[in-house]
Amino acid sequence: VICDDYVSPSSVEEALAILASLQGEGRIIGGGTDLIIQLLRKERSALTLVDVSRIPGLDDIRAEGAQVVIGAAATHSQIALSPTIQKHVPLLAEAVSWIGSPQIRNVGTLAGNVVNAQPAADGAIALLALDAEAEIANLTGRQWVPVGKLCVSPGVSRVDATSEMITAFRVNAASAREGFAYERRARRRVLALPLINVAARVWVDSDGSRMRDVRLAAGPVALVPFRAVQTEAVLRGQPISSNLIEEALATLLTEAKPRSSLLRASKEYRRELLAELSRRALTRAIDVARGTGT
Ligand SMILES: Cc1cc2nc3c(=O)[nH]c(=O)nc-3n(C[C@H](O)[C@H](O)[C@H](O)COP(=O)(O)OP(=O)(O)OC[C@H]3O[C@@H](n4cnc5c(N)ncnc54)[C@H](O)[C@@H]3O)c2cc1C
Repeated sequence: VICDDYVSPSSVEEALAILASLQGEGRIIGGGTDLIIQLLRKERSALTLVDVSRIPGLDDIRAEGAQVVIGAAATHSQIALSPTIQKHVPLLAEAVSWIGSPQIRNVGTLAGNVVNAQPAADGAIALLALDAEAEIANLTGRQWVPVGKLCVSPGVSRVDATSEMITAFRVNAASAREGFAYERRARRRVLALPLINVAARVWVDSDGSRMRDVRLAAGPVALVPFRAVQTEAVLRGQPISSNLIEEALATLLTEAKPRSSLLRASKEYRRELLAELSRRALTRAIDVARGTGT
């Protein structure tokens, strides 16, 4: 037995009221692809699971002006296959397509991916590069918070799923002269932990020669999903050249810290992989921004 009770509220307000009445002994569950395993291993405990995956409308994906809003219960499959996401946020569609297997993507949610707080979480890495915000609802109200502020350390999120929940994410829709790429390598192509994953997003100026702005996020190269701000500073505003990218990669290898891991690979190999995948991601994103790539 992994819990005493399971409830399926039909609104966010009802879910929050149930959590409040359980005084820390209830916990939100989405697809359960992380949480059920953690309950079975006794890494977490909860007397009552509060399932938010059936709340009507919580899986909506919609364009709102220049932004796209993704409901917290949207599964990775819904996101990857959504025409709105494919058109306006292709980086996210690409990243979540890598998660697990079809079975995992059919039930696993973006909110679960973020609150599970793993430094290599594919959804979280993409959301970082997208400057995404999460709407957090609790008894005091609702608040938008940058996703980059949510992960504290491996497995620890600022979102306390025993008393509050993520209801939605919002990201800016891709604009003209903006390009994206997601690169990921694992020991095998599917259903495997990433050795390194990288999300790149670049903006080029009107003739495509200068990098107006850039975001680069990577995992697992720190205790939390990592945004390479020093590397971005090297690239920002500069004329694009292979020398510039090499200079940026040298900075990346000073600020990102891949570790040796029995599950993943040696630090030396993962540093080389980080540089190569970042080189590919930046190059591909630049091509897309210039309108010469796919
Ligand atoms: C075989 C397998 C392969 C996997 N492969 C990958 C992979 O390649 N890449 C990857 O990134 N992940 C992978 N995962 C991990 C997992 O599938 C994802 O992290 C998934 O997105 C978790 O979402 P979920 O809805 O199942 O979360 P759950 O297990 O339901 O919940 C995870 C955590 O989030 C909390 N939570 C869930 N929803 C909310 C909410 N709306 N508000 C607040 N808190 C919430 C829960 O309380 C819990 O602490 C894999 C898992 C398995 C079992």
